[in-house]
Amino acid sequence: MTHDVIVVGAGAAGCVVASRLSEDPTRSVLLLEAGPHYATESSWPTDLLDGLGFPRSHDWGFASAPLTHGGHTFPIPRGKVVGGSTAVNYCVALRSRPTDHRAWAALGLPRWGWDEVLPVYQALEVDHDSEPRTPPGRTPIRRYPREELTDSQERFLTACEKAGYALVDDHNAPDSLGAGLTPLNQVGGRRYNSALVYLADAADRPNLTIRSGADVDTVLIRDGRAVGVRLATGEELAAEQVVLSAGAYGSPAILLRSGVGPAEHLREVGVDLVADVPGVGANLLEHPSTPAIFATAGETPARRPAPLRTMLSIKTSRDEPDVDVHIHAMATMPTRSPQGHPTGYDLLMTSALVAPHSVGSVRLRSRDAGELPVVDTGIYRDPRDAARVAQGLRVIRGLAEQSPLASLLVGERLPGASVADADLVDVVHATVGTYNHPVGTCRMGRTGDVDAVLDETCRVSAVRDLLVIDASAIPVSPRSTTTLPVLMLAERAVALNWPNP
Ligand SMILES: Cc1cc2nc3c(=O)[nH]c(=O)nc-3n(C[C@H](O)[C@H](O)[C@H](O)COP(=O)(O)OP(=O)(O)OC[C@H]3O[C@@H](n4cnc5c(N)ncnc54)[C@H](O)[C@@H]3O)c2cc1C
Repeated sequence: MTHDVIVVGAGAAGCVVASRLSEDPTRSVLLLEAGPHYATESSWPTDLLDGLGFPRSHDWGFASAPLTHGGHTFPIPRGKVVGGSTAVNYCVALRSRPTDHRAWAALGLPRWGWDEVLPVYQALEVDHDSEPRTPPGRTPIRRYPREELTDSQERFLTACEKAGYALVDDHNAPDSLGAGLTPLNQVGGRRYNSALVYLADAADRPNLTIRSGADVDTVLIRDGRAVGVRLATGEELAAEQVVLSAGAYGSPAILLRSGVGPAEHLREVGVDLVADVPGVGANLLEHPSTPAIFATAGETPARRPAPLRTMLSIKTSRDEPDVDVHIHAMATMPTRSPQGHPTGYDLLMTSALVAPHSVGSVRLRSRDAGELPVVDTGIYRDPRDAARVAQGLRVIRGLAEQSPLASLLVGERLPGASVADADLVDVVHATVGTYNHPVGTCRMGRTGDVDAVLDETCRVSAVRDLLVIDASAIPVSPRSTTTLPVLMLAERAVALNWPNP
């Protein structure tokens, strides 16, 4: 049988696309996902629903290629399950910012300006801390009230205020800058992944088939048109249109295996060229982060605390047009390295860069769909990035000296009190991690933009009836987290391509 649309990948974007397209009962939609499908809420593994933990049970197993500076590699988690990375993520629910969308418009993408995307955000969210909207959105967002903060989180907010940062009511308000409660797509400690939100009521539709354990190898392309997909098992499935929603690593890998990508790279790995598109797998933008750890005088949480309830957003210099670093203060936790520890408890604060200049790439290791692609995160290739994460660490040190945080902290364990401020860039290079927000590997662009893969509506310019709708399409690294921007992108891309779903 030929489906009207095959959607590859059931993550943040794929669940939106499959759900929206199957609202039309005359359209047959096949949603393919490499990981398992937990069809009823009661069948979900508890670690995936537990919004207070950091699950690794459903992971692809990616690791970064060695960094240019220092040669470090580190795990880069990605969810492999219906729900995708939203089933394993940290639930911070931030919208992209007006500054981001001015940058999209400057690239010749006026349909993604702030005035265009704001109503999409408003329609998809149900923000429990705002006035109810009609009709209500689907993705729940809430902030833990101040009285539910742990002692250290409360002290963190007060320290930010004393250090001169504004207290913000809503980090999702356009142009907000300062300290406040973190919006989370989590309610009552439960992680609301995109499958729970978008597929729960769609999964029973007769015109939507969800096939799990289906690892897609290539898109079948005939006479310049996508006509279906081939699974890693060799099985072929036919469709009138194919939508890739396999994420910022998965979608470019499928395109490359299908012969759509930079001609020279495809020759190297022995893939027959279908279309020479240099932008496939290029322009990988990722948010790097580095932790600071302080021993605390000892705070025994009465119950498991939600780790990410408070955050500070800053500009590290006057020249920055908008927020470039997020500082998250976790709850005080029993230490992971008790030997020689003064108290047994740590407070971890992270400095994460959300406006990187560095650029990485996704490339095939081989033609084999069973081999994960090489992900060069590009982190810190541009020296301005490590300098800004280091500046975030200096801000954290400043906060640690403010009352009432100072009286809780008994010593800086990482980077360590002996490390001078001037040497923090070295620490940043040595303790690199990511905020897990890759975008840009099949980015949109105006007609004639040689580095773009997609047109303004997420259609692959070089192949008819083929779209990429996921984080790969985002052309500018959002100065935010990425789940809400991807949900917004998917909703808007569906509306642009199928105006009356
Ligand atoms: C550990 C972690 C923490 C994060 N924390 C946050 C946070 O706090 N806040 C936030 O906003 N964002 C966070 N993110 C990022 C956010 O989850 C992603 O930006 C978002 O899920 C991306 O959506 P996507 O649809 O592009 O990809 P994904 O959600 O990753 O979905 C891609 C799907 O495609 C499937 N797939 C891939 N290849 C194939 C193939 N060949 N065949 C079939 N299926 C395939 C995958 O299994 C997956 O289900 C985090 C991510 C991770 C991993």
